[in-house]
Amino acid sequence: MKLNTIFTDKVQSMQPYHVPQSVGMIKLDAMESPYKLPKEMLQAIGTTLSMVNFNRYPSPRSTSLVAKIKNTFQLPSDSGVILGNGSDELIQMILTATMRPGATVMSPVPSFVMYQQTAEILGMKFIGVDLNACFSLDEDKFLNAIDQHQPAVIFLAYPNNPTGQILDKKFIEQVLKKAPGVVVLDEAYSPYTSHSVIDFIDKYNNAILIRTFSKIGLAGVRLGYLVANPEIVAQVDKVRMPYNINVLSKSAVHFMLDQVTFINACVEKVIQEKTKLYDWLLQREELTVIATETNFLLVRFHDANEVFTHLRDEHNILLKNLHGSHPTLENILRITIGRKKENEKLRQALNHILAVK
Ligand code: PMP
Repeated sequence: MKLNTIFTDKVQSMQPYHVPQSVGMIKLDAMESPYKLPKEMLQAIGTTLSMVNFNRYPSPRSTSLVAKIKNTFQLPSDSGVILGNGSDELIQMILTATMRPGATVMSPVPSFVMYQQTAEILGMKFIGVDLNACFSLDEDKFLNAIDQHQPAVIFLAYPNNPTGQILDKKFIEQVLKKAPGVVVLDEAYSPYTSHSVIDFIDKYNNAILIRTFSKIGLAGVRLGYLVANPEIVAQVDKVRMPYNINVLSKSAVHFMLDQVTFINACVEKVIQEKTKLYDWLLQREELTVIATETNFLLVRFHDANEVFTHLRDEHNILLKNLHGSHPTLENILRITIGRKKENEKLRQALNHILAVK
């Protein structure tokens, strides 16, 4: 068997998505919520899950969960909703439904890596428009690139990962007006910002909004949702695997949607911890700290590789090392906000590392 005649050039040239070993470590690398669910809540979920029909396929449309999501997050009542196995799967569905030969996908870079990766796996052409050194986007350059490349799909993360910055809403409207195809507005970090572009769903028929439960304590459950006008939803829904959301995830999210007070309290704690860490980092003159509208901070070190390795190997603290992934991210580490004690340990470790340098 000749693998190189079977697997596409793209797949052969790719590295698998790298998830670092994190057992026993303080895990501040993946924008998860640091808070476990309380025992009583877990027990109640256990009871709920025990009533699930394991022997039957899930209902393919998830009608009651969709209704509850629409209600909880006050989504436009006449919009359509699709659930995904994480918003990763929604990105894949959108691209699968639009992948014709020569189709182009566009986004600022650096941004969420799965936009480019999924587009290229599917044989689409990806055009990245580089952010400026201060993480802002040259809006004219982006609008010109739309004219030039006529992308079938544009992704705008709002706020962006990994830079945490938020685009100007007026610019997004310009993109929506100019785009020949769909514009995916990725609000993965919506719980951590007061900004939203949800109002564009009613206003622009080429807008698609995606969100996730991963950043609010349910990363392990894998659930994201897509909101768009029903015509778009009807097309994208055709490429969805029939039973893509398993009964356990559905049931757990159903339960958690009744615990919004708890979820909001966790978000609030993360935001408070972020402010504390931000203020502390700001006092260290040798560092540049970048504020974000998310549950992470970016910090530029003198030597990010060295700090990253010290934290990991000597202090058991795992951050995300962005150095080398894009010129704007030189010497930058991304810190997902942890629990109070974890952030304290990070501060102590940084004190130690920076003092001995
Ligand atoms: N979009 C953005 C901007 C993200 O940062 C992430 C997760 N890192 C996702 C989508 C994917 O989230 P999930 O698949 O866990 O829902």
